Amino acid sequence: ENPPDLECAICFCQFNNVFNTPKVLQCKHTFCLECLARMNVKSTQPDTIQCPLCRAYTPLPNLGLPKLANDSTVLSYFPAAMQHVYSIRFNRNKGKLQVKRVPSSAPALTQTVSQTLDVGNPAGLEGHQGRDGGRERSLLITVLRTPLCKAFIMSLVAILIVVLTITIILIKNK
Ligand SMILES: [Zn+2]
Ligand SMILES: [Zn+2]
Repeated sequence: ENPPDLECAICFCQFNNVFNTPKVLQCKHTFCLECLARMNVKSTQPDTIQCPLCRAYTPLPNLGLPKLANDSTVLSYFPAAMQHVYSIRFNRNKGKLQVKRVPSSAPALTQTVSQTLDVGNPAGLEGHQGRDGGRERSLLITVLRTPLCKAFIMSLVAILIVVLTITIILIKNK
């Protein structure tokens, strides 16, 4: 049996038991939590993760991205000190991964690993700003168009009056 890949195929970093926990998707492909979080933050479909290798979709667990199943095969290759996987909170709106609580069983890790990790700005927020901009723009067009519309209707009415007047004069002259 071949040993599993012990590094993430996206970022090539070694899997670990904190932010680079190996998470297995429904298609059986494994990536680190950080990469999945980065993908999810930029995704327009926050409820699902699309595998970058085979394009298959994995719905996210109700309790969030960190609750995706760990790859137990990869975990079994970790040294004993790394067998405990940290509880991570994923705050998509802020684009942050955060260690929920540091267990007393592995206190050494807090000195080497930051307890929060930025994973980028959410796509949803950027999209929201874009939509607002669009709304402002269309409002501007409406405001600009209103006087033009009025002017158009006024000139149409004026032309009608002129045409009617000419017609009446022509009829009278006959
Ligand atoms: Zn990765
Ligand atoms: Zn896949």
